[in-house]
Amino acid sequence: MLTLAGVGTLGGLTALAATKIAPWQTDHSAHGTDPAWIEPVDASTSLAPPAPTATATGTLPPRQEIISRYGTRTPHYWGLHPDSSWSTFPTDTSLTLNSACLTFDACSDSSGYDERLINRLREQQIPATLFVNQRWATTHRQKFESLMADPLFEIGNHGTNHRPLSVSGRSAYGIAGTKNVAEVYDEIAGMHTWMDTNYDLQPKFFRPGTAHADNVATQVSRAMGEWIVMFSVNGDAGATASANQVYQQFLQLRPGGILLAHFNRPGSETAAGVERALPVLVARGLHFRRLGEVLPATTSPEQPPRW
Ligand SMILES: [Zn+2]
Repeated sequence: MLTLAGVGTLGGLTALAATKIAPWQTDHSAHGTDPAWIEPVDASTSLAPPAPTATATGTLPPRQEIISRYGTRTPHYWGLHPDSSWSTFPTDTSLTLNSACLTFDACSDSSGYDERLINRLREQQIPATLFVNQRWATTHRQKFESLMADPLFEIGNHGTNHRPLSVSGRSAYGIAGTKNVAEVYDEIAGMHTWMDTNYDLQPKFFRPGTAHADNVATQVSRAMGEWIVMFSVNGDAGATASANQVYQQFLQLRPGGILLAHFNRPGSETAAGVERALPVLVARGLHFRRLGEVLPATTSPEQPPRW
């Protein structure tokens, strides 16, 4: 049985989560200077054509309804931590106390599958949320199905074409974002509908390509039943970090924190860093949860979330 002895450094984000601002509204002052590099370079991303117009299924509100409701709104924020998104979570229950979330993305490129990383998580029974892009899922279908079938993992939506989520055509790292609410809808709905149709799976969380969104796009996503989830710790700098840098970044994880790293770069040093860091974090008494265990169900953006 692990004890919490010697975990005095683990209080940081608990205080952050307890600030007066409502937890589903982002306290921008708490994030400080974010490391700039979030995503692996994938030149094909910016060249990708828009997704075909997704047909709303029973689990999504109609496209035209969303366009009517949000199409005239003007965003006032663009970046990593917009309102109506989560970068941390409250740690005020016995389940969430001393808990943190590991999230690993599979971006749009077909560069591969980090088997070593996934195997370590399985061996050590470390739960995680995996954000999967539709193009990755379709080019790694057997891997996707194996991950989806594993109760250790929860699958999140990492977009249809892996585009930054903008209602006005903003870009990030040279990757063009969606241009309007209709394209935001399609970026979310394409992968959602693919998962729903093929696997009867309805993702509850969305991470945009490059983890950039504006504060209207986050409301659209929320109205579609998917919270936008960003991060508080950039674990592998777009899978470019050395093993030691990954290790050091993982050690920054605190209760209430959400860590971002990647599992689509088997040639990276992410797995090596994770292998070193996990035993340290476990020894500190940190418990790992999937996002669905610590975040509330979405509601209309006009309403507070339901826990
Ligand atoms: Zn990505």
